[in-house]
Amino acid sequence: MNSNEELVNHLVSNGSLKTKEIISAFLKVDRKDFCVNEYKKLAYVDQPLPILAGQTISQPTTVAIMTEALQPHKGDKVLEIGTGSGYQAAILAEIVKPGKVYTIERIKELVEFAKKNLRNYKNVEVIHGDGSEGLKEKAPFDCIIVTACAPKIPEVLVDQLSFGGRMVIPVGEKEHLQRLMLIIKKKNIEKIDLGPFVFVPLIGKYGFKE
Ligand code: SAM
Repeated sequence: MNSNEELVNHLVSNGSLKTKEIISAFLKVDRKDFCVNEYKKLAYVDQPLPILAGQTISQPTTVAIMTEALQPHKGDKVLEIGTGSGYQAAILAEIVKPGKVYTIERIKELVEFAKKNLRNYKNVEVIHGDGSEGLKEKAPFDCIIVTACAPKIPEVLVDQLSFGGRMVIPVGEKEHLQRLMLIIKKKNIEKIDLGPFVFVPLIGKYGFKE
């Protein structure tokens, strides 16, 4: 694939992108703008790519599946945990504007990288910190997306969801046996298993130890 449009067409034809508003956000956000220079030539290939500090920009199919499961809407307030390159945050920002995206990253070098990549997005705030604790002062959130794997669903994040709010989070052991979970906060907490995935670990108070 040689263009962002071809990548998006591939995500539609493999069934991971379905919703009109989400497809148009993927078309507006060029993945190349979020890759480091040495990997820009692979930006439109459907695979995760190294960024800085040993971390990755997620595989486009995974970003598409997570965004579709989350079902963000115009005006929503969103929390992302694991900013990385800022690619997922940019897609969320396009969908929810004028709603706001708060995104937390624990590695300072990536906070700076993402801030640079997201400089044109006025409705995204990049925060340096341990996202496993959420962002209590801005809660409740309509959507929470965790882009690193937690050992179990952190209760503190479920508490920060609004009623009817949705959270997508990979849960399991480091490097294997991970399940991507959709949590919907209703009268009861609904948990839907979206299948097996592999993510880098969520490191922090309610994640794995460093
Ligand atoms: N969403 C990113 C993107 O679009 O490029 C990809 C994220 S990468 C797969 C996962 C990120 O989670 C890494 O950048 C990692 O440093 C970060 N991370 C891990 N534990 C974290 C924590 N407790 N708080 C915030 N970020 C964390």
